[in-house]
Amino acid sequence: MFYLIDNTLSCCPNGIRGLYKEYTYFAAGAAAAEISPGIGAIVDNKWFFEESQLMKDQLISWRRDFHQHPEIGMNLPRTSGIVADVLQELGYKVQTGIGQSGVVGMLQGAHEGPCVLARFDMDALPIVEQTGAPYASVVEGAMHACGHDGHTAIGLGTASILCKLQDRLKGTVKLVFQPGEEGFDGALAMIRDGVLEAPEPVKCLAMHLWNSEPVGWIGLTEGAVMAGAEKIRIEVQGRGGHGSAPELALDPVLAGSQIVVAIQTVVSRSVDPLEAAVVSITSMHAGTTFNVIPPNMVMEGTIRTFNPDIRKVVLQRLKTVVNSTAEAMGCQAELEIEKISTPVINQPDLTIEMQQLVKELLPASIMDTGCRVMGSEDMAEFQDRIPGVYIFVGSNSTEKGLVGAHHNPQFDFDEDVLPLGAGLMTAAIARMLGSA
Ligand SMILES: [Zn+2]
Ligand SMILES: [Zn+2]
Repeated sequence: MFYLIDNTLSCCPNGIRGLYKEYTYFAAGAAAAEISPGIGAIVDNKWFFEESQLMKDQLISWRRDFHQHPEIGMNLPRTSGIVADVLQELGYKVQTGIGQSGVVGMLQGAHEGPCVLARFDMDALPIVEQTGAPYASVVEGAMHACGHDGHTAIGLGTASILCKLQDRLKGTVKLVFQPGEEGFDGALAMIRDGVLEAPEPVKCLAMHLWNSEPVGWIGLTEGAVMAGAEKIRIEVQGRGGHGSAPELALDPVLAGSQIVVAIQTVVSRSVDPLEAAVVSITSMHAGTTFNVIPPNMVMEGTIRTFNPDIRKVVLQRLKTVVNSTAEAMGCQAELEIEKISTPVINQPDLTIEMQQLVKELLPASIMDTGCRVMGSEDMAEFQDRIPGVYIFVGSNSTEKGLVGAHHNPQFDFDEDVLPLGAGLMTAAIARMLGSA
């Protein structure tokens, strides 16, 4: 028997209180606890949250330890060391040094089946913490301000609960603890080091704590959920000359200016108005003085899109408009496009399956099936290669004053989300294995 409910819940909003009622219901083992068809073959729904709730103190202790000792980028010796030790103790087959500090834990179920990958990111940010929490960072200039300390703890909780299912699991679970999510291409580094091989996962899964929403809110949207980004550079080549004799020059400043205006038609005229896309020119450089027409002009900017088909349209139109406009002005243009990140795309069937799972497991949760964010996330590298799903898990608490935004020095989340996350991830993995 366990209790999730405490005094603070008396003032919770209905949705959250409802969610916790559900836990109580499970805990009480009351009649008619629904057995979900997919997981039913393994255990009934209540089991996942009973197990994760029993681990709550351990989850908080892991989280606070990681929070106090944040590590940034690809080199996370302390964090990855702890993760590898815990996985080893649990009996996982552990690989370290995959993408520098990346750790992979593999658990083979007793029955034949596919391989499913679940990814948890571990890195912190170069931010000076201002939460004043008793477990605040002791590392100057480093802070877990995105919740990856929570992800790592949830990953270890998931690993612990999955172990208990080993005799009944079909297939292999690959738990991937990734460094360098915050702009260090950690996912690519792990992929280059073979994380998607031997065995090859057929599905993948990740979650992110989401502090603009309360505990009990789950964001599960089909299709693109985080944007892809490109950096663009345009060099316009003209012919320099005297500022007083434009007829003898080919003016790249005028051509460049026309290009800036013309490419604003790419989104407004070539993209479906119901889709989202951004093309921004953010820097322009040309010339050195007032009476010389310079020979060239350089511009930089960015493109953001969710939908790969829209991205293709934007890039194609951009090339045409840039080249043709330059040519019309008697100049030549060179367009360089550098991919910064791929959009995170939730595979439709898998997303529907996970939405169904959330309805079964947490019927009182607030499920948002339309949330999308313009930020980017390198889980996209996994989901670009294998079908996957990315789940946002609400983590704030207005009552407890834990509402700081991600990447803010005041960021902190409600630790009640830790058992919720671990139970949900474990159930999701079991479902993905069982239904493959
Ligand atoms: Zn972040
Ligand atoms: Zn993050």
